[in-house]
Amino acid sequence: MIYREYGQTGKKVSLLGFGGMRFKNVDNHDECVRMMVSAAEGGVNYFDTAPGYFETRSEIVYGKAFAEMRKRGLPYFSATKTFESTESGIRGEIEGQLKRLDISTIDFYHIWCITTLDNWENRKKNDIIKTFRKLKEEGLINHICISSHLIKNEIKKLLMEGVFEGVLFGYSAYNFQTRQDAFDAIREKKLGAVVMNPLGGGVIPQHPDLFKFIRREGETAAVAALRFLWDHSEITNTLVGFDTIEHVNEALQAIENYKPRTPAELEEVKSKAASSFEGICTGCAYCDNCPVGIPIPYYMDTYNQKLLNKAIDDPIGDRLKWHWNLERSGAAKCTECGQCEAACTQHIDIIRRLKEIAN
Ligand code: SF4
Ligand code: SF4
Repeated sequence: MIYREYGQTGKKVSLLGFGGMRFKNVDNHDECVRMMVSAAEGGVNYFDTAPGYFETRSEIVYGKAFAEMRKRGLPYFSATKTFESTESGIRGEIEGQLKRLDISTIDFYHIWCITTLDNWENRKKNDIIKTFRKLKEEGLINHICISSHLIKNEIKKLLMEGVFEGVLFGYSAYNFQTRQDAFDAIREKKLGAVVMNPLGGGVIPQHPDLFKFIRREGETAAVAALRFLWDHSEITNTLVGFDTIEHVNEALQAIENYKPRTPAELEEVKSKAASSFEGICTGCAYCDNCPVGIPIPYYMDTYNQKLLNKAIDDPIGDRLKWHWNLERSGAAKCTECGQCEAACTQHIDIIRRLKEIAN
């Protein structure tokens, strides 16, 4: 296992992390605990969950697994999150989480799922920062972290506020072009950087040809996607949502046989993405100046799901609701001025796609 410093916390975390959102059968505690203990035996020490995963049942499994790890002397760090923003709401949440997780302190506690900067400003109005600092002083949490769905300058702006010790954000070979600005802030503020969705929500393994640009000889698209992330020296941990013990073992093997690229080799790989992604929105955001305020990159990312994600029944509706918190009707505001299409680096028929989304 490879370990990296989590920002300035003094904690060394495993480059491979365990995410608790994809258990095949979360109510089979023995099986889930076996998976987590097996990962810990392989050197994984970062375990991330959230109260919303399986309606708190993921946290219950984590509590049982942590107890087993303590029994076996296996080290672990706990990470979880809260959507609450008022002091009483957060205190109520954390009380339940500590019980479910069977621990007295949460190592990495995240302000959960910032989707827009307005959303962040609203949470701040409830003194969320003050509350998190109090929780830290009281020893209920060890580190203040944020989980973000922002892209480009927005994510950088959030991180530059200097509130956080680490960030959890979606980053993969599929969306990396939209998140590069985060690394400026991560370096400058010396933050821990945990990435989620390393397989692009399943898009990467479903489309191995599209991701030829990251694959080296003998690598599956999934293994190549993880190694591509590990090549980023700023990334502290990549969270994989494991569903079976076989997947845990595959990921452990991928890190065992991992040969890092040099920074120059990584840049070369990244430069090949645009040509590979023909017709796919890369999230470059050059179009993001719509006179009627449509957040075009978010809607086009949603359309990508329709093109690429065959595993979901309603990929557009699902992405709008759960990832971007947007309505289909927002796409209907388009006046067809054509400004965005003229700016699009991928020559995407944005107007037609917006109409399809709206309908
Ligand atoms: S064509 Fe529609 S989406 Fe594009 S900039 Fe004009 S109004 Fe906005
Ligand atoms: S310019 Fe094109 S590729 Fe870039 S974000 Fe907009 S729609 Fe996507």
